[in-house]
Amino acid sequence: MIDDAIASESLRNILKNELKSGRTFGTWLFYGKDRDQAFKSALVLAKGLCCDTMKGDFCDECPTCRKINHGVYSDLEVVEDPTGIKVDAVREMIQKSSVTSFEGKNKIFILKDVGNINKYAANALLKLIEEPYPHCFYILLSDTLNILPTIKSRCAIVRIPELSAEELDVPEPIYRFFLGASADIAAWKQSEINLAQDIPYDKIGVYLRKYAEENDFFSKVCIYKAIRSFLDNRPYLTLKDKLQFTEDIAKNSSNRELLKELIRYAVYAQSYAEGLEARLEVKAMLRFPVNMKLALMQIFTN
Ligand SMILES: [Zn+2]
Repeated sequence: MIDDAIASESLRNILKNELKSGRTFGTWLFYGKDRDQAFKSALVLAKGLCCDTMKGDFCDECPTCRKINHGVYSDLEVVEDPTGIKVDAVREMIQKSSVTSFEGKNKIFILKDVGNINKYAANALLKLIEEPYPHCFYILLSDTLNILPTIKSRCAIVRIPELSAEELDVPEPIYRFFLGASADIAAWKQSEINLAQDIPYDKIGVYLRKYAEENDFFSKVCIYKAIRSFLDNRPYLTLKDKLQFTEDIAKNSSNRELLKELIRYAVYAQSYAEGLEARLEVKAMLRFPVNMKLALMQIFTN
């Protein structure tokens, strides 16, 4: 049920109203810094649109709800691409929208990180949501509202609020360390990682390599710690040290998505120290296929 799945009262009401409206097609833009919450909220809406037993809500127990929970519902498609959604993926979506659904009900498409979509894909997507197919619903996810105005204007815009430290049941310093990211905080609660133990910034390369190999949460936390150590020490570092740090990150991050995540972490972690303008510039840079090293230098050497 929506009441159990969504902590924020305002978001609960929005989702209930959307489901009550009885529309037969639609496009939403869910935006918020906590990507995990945005995705979870999209699944809640998807279940509400497809549930076998309930109207305007979902039961979480019928075959459809269960399939959605297990990521095996054939009329729910999650479209994602770490390097930005491409036009081919959108064309495939258009094709799937045009044929009859597998389960005989609504078809749902969730598009992750839509702020990062490339230009051709954005144009194709725009056509699709301008002339939608019946019983097709598109939920676009983005961590900011910084997306093409033409797309934005055709969406119902829903802000996904971050959960508070209290709602996530963690002390404030831990909440701040993870910048309120609910998925990281849940992983931390399962682990026994001591956040008070520092990692020197010049060890960042070691943990980046380890993370690339093992994809483990411990290494991820060590990377965050190294970034924090760098930000704390920055006033005392030479330009050479700063460039070395940037180089260590660029050299050891083969994965573009990881790099983006680190940049995002660094930007938010130091936001108190920087001017708003610099931050916006970096955020804008992340939308385009720019040289990531350039973005890193912008953040760490300024
Ligand atoms: Zn159900």
